[in-house]
Amino acid sequence: MRSDKIRCQGKTIVFVPTMGFLHAGHLSLIREGKKYGDDIVVSIFVNPTQFGPGEDLETYPKNFEKDLELLQKEGVNAVFAPDAVEIYGEKFQTYVELEKLPNHLCGLSRPVFFKGVATVVTKLFNIVKPHVTIFGQKDYQQLTVIRQMVRDLNFDIKVVGAPTVRESDGLAMSSRNTYLTPEQRISALSLNKSLKKAQTLVENGLQDAAKIIDTAAKLIRSHPETEIDYITICDPETLDDMKTIDRPALMALAVKVGKARLIDNMILNP
Ligand code: AMP
Repeated sequence: MRSDKIRCQGKTIVFVPTMGFLHAGHLSLIREGKKYGDDIVVSIFVNPTQFGPGEDLETYPKNFEKDLELLQKEGVNAVFAPDAVEIYGEKFQTYVELEKLPNHLCGLSRPVFFKGVATVVTKLFNIVKPHVTIFGQKDYQQLTVIRQMVRDLNFDIKVVGAPTVRESDGLAMSSRNTYLTPEQRISALSLNKSLKKAQTLVENGLQDAAKIIDTAAKLIRSHPETEIDYITICDPETLDDMKTIDRPALMALAVKVGKARLIDNMILNP
């Protein structure tokens, strides 16, 4: 297998899992990865087991040719783009599930999501055999889940979190931004705006999480076509709710804008 050969050559394999339709956020993970190793592997796989009924599995954006072009330009060493049958044969029945971390944030409205993510990432780790893996902080809960899983299951893999890449107006880059109409694209700015507003309130001494959440909710609702899934202020490690921001706290939110479900987050520092 390729991975064994590369390992025998004494190289360090760095793995960046993606669902494709690549943007500058994904490319930043690859660039970050180059700091940690000399064999960069990127996977492109829209993982069916992490999508629930009524979600966008069938319509998830794709542009495989353009993705390959971008990856070639970045000097990626290998691309792994399996199909679902290759990953989940007919008789597939083994899943990886975390007990606590999924009972927060996105896990509440997407009940199968983290089971699907943990399972597919485990399989990808076993196939790619990386020394290092890079995940975006934009999907903060996912990064937390992967770190926990790597500890719990003794994967000999270093997990690196990379900062969120944004458009110049603050919108976090996401493959799903392509779903937005020009009007919805303006409404989508309310996610980052509300996080920045929260940070300002905290810097000015406000510690009451409920008040900050309320202010953020009002700001988001003042934008057309937004529907808040959750706005949470919580412990950055356990993801348990925090009432008082007397230490660094994670503020995370998920908002549907039109048909795009968007997420963003920020660490609030008192
Ligand atoms: P996805 O293709 O959306 O599953 O994302 C693949 C990886 O890219 C995940 O680790 C994401 O957290 C990361 N990612 C997605 N969007 C961004 C962004 N705007 N900035 C940095 N990383 C990102």
